[in-house]
Amino acid sequence: MKNYIVALDGPAGSGKSTIAKIIAKDFNLTYLDTGAMYRMVALYTLQNNINIKDSKTIIESLPKINMDIVNDSFILNGVDVSKEIRTPEVTKIVSPAAAIKEVRIKLVDLQREISKGKKVILDGRDIGTVVFPNADVKIFLVASPEERAKRRVKDYLSKGITEDFKTVLADIIERDLIDSSRKESPLKKAHDAIEIDSSFMNIQECVYSIETIIYSIIGE
Ligand code: C5P
Repeated sequence: MKNYIVALDGPAGSGKSTIAKIIAKDFNLTYLDTGAMYRMVALYTLQNNINIKDSKTIIESLPKINMDIVNDSFILNGVDVSKEIRTPEVTKIVSPAAAIKEVRIKLVDLQREISKGKKVILDGRDIGTVVFPNADVKIFLVASPEERAKRRVKDYLSKGITEDFKTVLADIIERDLIDSSRKESPLKKAHDAIEIDSSFMNIQECVYSIETIIYSIIGE
């Protein structure tokens, strides 16, 4: 079967990464978590005391930011930072970092390079609109902000991090706003994407509906 691309976009906490991992396994696809790449840039700024509003220094630092993805691990300048990129500190500053044009150019190039010649599922905000506008399957996964915040709190707890619902909800609403109103590649549904609202679905139901769509388009 030929190579193909599944683009899974949507706002923070809509369940994209959990679902993409399961689909990747079921269909034997390479999974690329593009949010993790933006998180590595945000983590670099924290590690080097760069103010997130100082886009000039962030742009100048880009050649010094080397990222690798080895199996499921995210490697920033030779160090496995898979855990560090998921902390609330990184989450709070990732959207401004991702709004910088030069950051996006570097990471989009990398995303296309990693995907070359593979069957792949990518999750993000701009996969179906910018990274792969000709993706074979495009899904736009949404859920209410309250439902997404509830899931995030649970997810943090499973990692031993306690964050209160109101703080997480405020963060999600703020990230939605920055991600969808930015000039560069804003979060939006591609005109030919299929929208799925997961607010009242469990993970299995979401996976089932997306896998049915992939199967009907790709036939695998
Ligand atoms: O998906 P995740 O929540 O880990 O993404 C973190 C942040 O990275 C998002 O809030 C968004 O600002 C940015 N992002 C992006 N484009 C992508 C993936 C993530 O701008 N393709």
